[in-house]
Amino acid sequence: MKESLLGKTLAELEELAAESGLPKFTARQIADWLYKKDIYSIDEMSNLSKKTRDLLNKKYEFGTIPPTKVQESTDGTKKYLFPTLQHKFIETAMIPERDRKTVCVSSQVGCKMGCMFCFTAKQGFQGQLSAGEIINQIKSIKEAGEITNIVYMGMGEPFDNLEQVLKSIEILTSDWGFAISPHRITVSTIGIIPGMITFLDKSRAHLAISLHTPFNNERRKLMPVQAIYAIEEVVAEIKRRDFGRQRRISFEYIVFEGLNDSPQHVKELAKLLNGLKCRINLIRFHPVPGVPLKNPSDKVIQEFKDELNRKGILTTVRASRGRDIYAACGLLSTKEIA
Ligand code: SF4
Repeated sequence: MKESLLGKTLAELEELAAESGLPKFTARQIADWLYKKDIYSIDEMSNLSKKTRDLLNKKYEFGTIPPTKVQESTDGTKKYLFPTLQHKFIETAMIPERDRKTVCVSSQVGCKMGCMFCFTAKQGFQGQLSAGEIINQIKSIKEAGEITNIVYMGMGEPFDNLEQVLKSIEILTSDWGFAISPHRITVSTIGIIPGMITFLDKSRAHLAISLHTPFNNERRKLMPVQAIYAIEEVVAEIKRRDFGRQRRISFEYIVFEGLNDSPQHVKELAKLLNGLKCRINLIRFHPVPGVPLKNPSDKVIQEFKDELNRKGILTTVRASRGRDIYAACGLLSTKEIA
């Protein structure tokens, strides 16, 4: 199998140019075609000589993989199905809003974290994605040229595939790459502390942490990761840092009926997040087959939100998108076709 050009950093392309006896500036030209232009083959790199293109074609392929299926929700959200290099499948969601188009990318095939409420978890872990496969989810969708925001909230735990996730962020944010502001990128984690520390040190993208309950026993049941990286330690690590105005820290909180929506939860959340400049995003639970958890009424969610705001925690309710095509939060899975 030929090596893919998509997913290579400028430094890697410079190395490739040197190895192939090409001038150093060829690397920047290739990066331009890969990340700034709307082309999908080496033969379309028209400012490279035919000889250079032939030389590249011998050893490399452009690296884009088109989606094999696209579903569109009644609300305009799209779900793309992509094959991976390991012959598995991943899903990517594109969520259009009035003035933005957000892509929700997957970072792994399936996931090994086993969160109780998550459809991806039911699929188990089937492999890591390369930086190229992550970038492909942005480059190979119909809306590629119109994307304003990128969230790493699809299938997988990004910090369990840290190296490739960081590499993809470097490609997205570098001037030689997509040149997207890191402030338009959010990476969501369940709180893998070592990965989170490296991410915070090495990138300037926003961070979202899946919280779901402030209580240890409850969180252990919902998210096995709590037994290794407790949420108090995750928050303590965040509190040790000064992010200024440049970086946004938010907490994702799926509301489960009668489980994590009580006044005690509000009180404990206020205690946990005291002194931290952050926001809580409340998310409606989308029932997953075989999971005995329920979505509370809109009234309950609104009251919970109001209580948190009264306690001084900026809290919003995230609009539910793409539910009819299983593209909503926690509903991505390729179990059936993997
Ligand atoms: S919620 Fe995220 S980390 Fe947990 S199992 Fe699902 S994909 Fe993995």
